[in-house]
Amino acid sequence: MATAIRIEALPARLGDCLLVECLREGGRPWRMLVDGGPPDTWPRLEARLAALPAADPGIDVAVVTHIDSDHIGGMIPFLRSEFAHTHVGDVWFNGRCHLPDPNRGPVRSVKQGEDLTAELTGVPVRPNADPRPGRALPWNLTFGGGPIQTGDEGGHRTVAVDDGPTITVLSPTTKRLAILAPLWDDALRAVTRGSEGIAVPDSPAPLDDLVRLAAPDTARDRSAPNGSSIALLVEHRGASVLLAGDAFGNVLGAGLVGLAAARGTAAVPVDVFKLPHHGSRGNVLAALVERAPARHYVVSSNGDVFHHPDDAALARVVLGMPAGATLWFNYANERTRRWDDPRLRDRHDYGTRYPIDDSAGAVLELAARP
Ligand SMILES: [Zn+2]
Repeated sequence: MATAIRIEALPARLGDCLLVECLREGGRPWRMLVDGGPPDTWPRLEARLAALPAADPGIDVAVVTHIDSDHIGGMIPFLRSEFAHTHVGDVWFNGRCHLPDPNRGPVRSVKQGEDLTAELTGVPVRPNADPRPGRALPWNLTFGGGPIQTGDEGGHRTVAVDDGPTITVLSPTTKRLAILAPLWDDALRAVTRGSEGIAVPDSPAPLDDLVRLAAPDTARDRSAPNGSSIALLVEHRGASVLLAGDAFGNVLGAGLVGLAAARGTAAVPVDVFKLPHHGSRGNVLAALVERAPARHYVVSSNGDVFHHPDDAALARVVLGMPAGATLWFNYANERTRRWDDPRLRDRHDYGTRYPIDDSAGAVLELAARP
């Protein structure tokens, strides 16, 4: 059977670094890179990009979902690389210029001279110094240079690639960009500082009663950068993947409700759901799981610092997902291995997949459907 979409969750420790390929019959694949993991992911990402076919290594779209070190750390060297300046078609990223400004009014578009990597690093480009001609990266071209957002809560925005995927933006809302605006400098400083916080040893408890674990649905993610995260539904040749970034469960959930209503369906079923915020209980809400029933759920984290995925998050997934679905982990460790307990799998009718080692990541291939 022909593969329509191939998704690779690279090992990016606590972060996200995803390569999505939409395969075309008799043509080059359309490729999207979503985030670059923390800074130390870059050598691995660089090696992965070097392994793309030499005749066609193009990344059609590189997405920076939001400004957090575990997503943009590896993206900064990527966007400065010769590879990016030669092979990237468009960068999707909401920079400071895309945030609603109380003094200047609503969101606006990239202006000439506004430099993407300067925006990401907080280091301004000196006037008349750089970029050399042709050195500026394409930035939100698909969106006319404007912000990538849904507008009001429950909104969505769809763009179609010629002979390629249809992509629907489901997060952030304009409101979430506005909330980030006054906090932008602090968020950027936190990123460039690169501190991950103090790691304490993880001691995962036995998974006994999933209903009890899933129940407290009150701890919500309050991080303004996470709330501004871009979430995308990629659909191609009958296959679909929901890339949730670190989006808020209620914002993404509302986007899915709106999309389902527009489609005249009760929910938005997908093949793959890359869970938001590495499987955090503050983002993977029961109502969200209900709105995007999937055949495969991807968790991207090795558990560093934050001990993701949270048991509450995966309990909600297991209790809410369609029968026979599979949990995919891009790291096998004590925390993720507990979900492979045969009694648990039998009782709740699901499967698990783990990489063979810490360098393999998770790779999923989705078949084309008529
Ligand atoms: Zn993250």
